[in-house]
Amino acid sequence: MQDKSRFTIAVFPGDGIGSEITPITLEVINKACSKLDVSFDFKVLDAGAAYYAKHGESLPAEAMSVAKKADAILLACMGMPDIRYPDGREIAPQLELRETLDLYAGVRPVKTLKGLPLPLGDARAQALDFVLVRESTEGLFASRSSSKIIDNERAEDTQVITRKGSERVFNFACKLAQRRKELGFKGKVTCVDKANVLGSFFFFRQVFDEVTQAYKDIDADHIYVDAAALQLVRQPWMFDVMVTENMFGDILSDLGAGLMGGMGMAPSADIGDEHAVFQPCHGSAPDIVGQGKANPTAMFLSAAMMLDWLGSKHDVPAACDAAQRINRAVETAYEAGNLKPFEFGGQHGTDEIYNRIIDLL
Ligand code: ATP
Ligand code: MG
Repeated sequence: MQDKSRFTIAVFPGDGIGSEITPITLEVINKACSKLDVSFDFKVLDAGAAYYAKHGESLPAEAMSVAKKADAILLACMGMPDIRYPDGREIAPQLELRETLDLYAGVRPVKTLKGLPLPLGDARAQALDFVLVRESTEGLFASRSSSKIIDNERAEDTQVITRKGSERVFNFACKLAQRRKELGFKGKVTCVDKANVLGSFFFFRQVFDEVTQAYKDIDADHIYVDAAALQLVRQPWMFDVMVTENMFGDILSDLGAGLMGGMGMAPSADIGDEHAVFQPCHGSAPDIVGQGKANPTAMFLSAAMMLDWLGSKHDVPAACDAAQRINRAVETAYEAGNLKPFEFGGQHGTDEIYNRIIDLL
């Protein structure tokens, strides 16, 4: 019988700062799991923009096949602004992974840490804990490989919203709100759309209303995306679980990362029924490559999300415990207020942040 508490993880360091933050993340995972009944077989795989420049393909079939067989996928960041496909699009195998593995729920937690300078002064904005769920397989991005540049005067992209795609992401968001309610959160799901202008969003909202009928224990409401942008700055504490279309989710999750103080603090997960990819929200940050300035926190927190997901899915409490250890070590490292990453205007780089956190583990 296969050992239930040994997991195979496909690891993609990807491009840019990816190779600076990946090896230390694997160390953090191993350290968090020491003396717990859970262990990992990491399969480190090459893919991304630099790989494309060398080999003419961005995600080799062999790596894809390993990723498909793995229990989870951990990815740092992929893409470089000046390496592109012939049609001008950036190399983004992470989008291919989402599509091929049908990872429909993009989970972007917005959780602030104590001890860091944050953009909003209100005490409630210094203790945020909400989650944005982004539909990740359709919406406006779904037509990205069939964008029509008709002539010099006109270009078109198409937004696709389906009942199936919407129902599954709304169900995911509602179940997340239920789990959070058990932990003491509001138990509310807010649908973010533009139903007052586009028919596709009117449909999105209708399906939301139908799905949420089945969840009597949680509250459901709606907000237009423009109002959501305003409230995310004015009173972001009003949200619990937000659920939205692909591109709106892309934009609002960067706003969420901003509320946490920087891209280097924001973890994420892309979850489907079978597979899941865990990846920090940030890109490959070419402007800081090789300077030791990359903040690895978002990737550590993404690894914690992965451990928690594996533990819950396979009923291995030790993996959930390891996730908690990482979350607590990160919180404690920053709490005292004397750890300030470069992106916060501080002087602490990748190694210093890693050392503080690993010592706490
Ligand atoms: P993508 O299109 O892949 O999302 P992007 O163009 O949005 O990429 P990022 O690579 O996320 O850009 O970088 C945006 C800014 O945030 C850059 O100035 C970058 O240096 C900074 N940044 C991103 N990630 C980190 C990190 N982990 N630590 C420190 N700074 C970061
Ligand atoms: Mg970005």
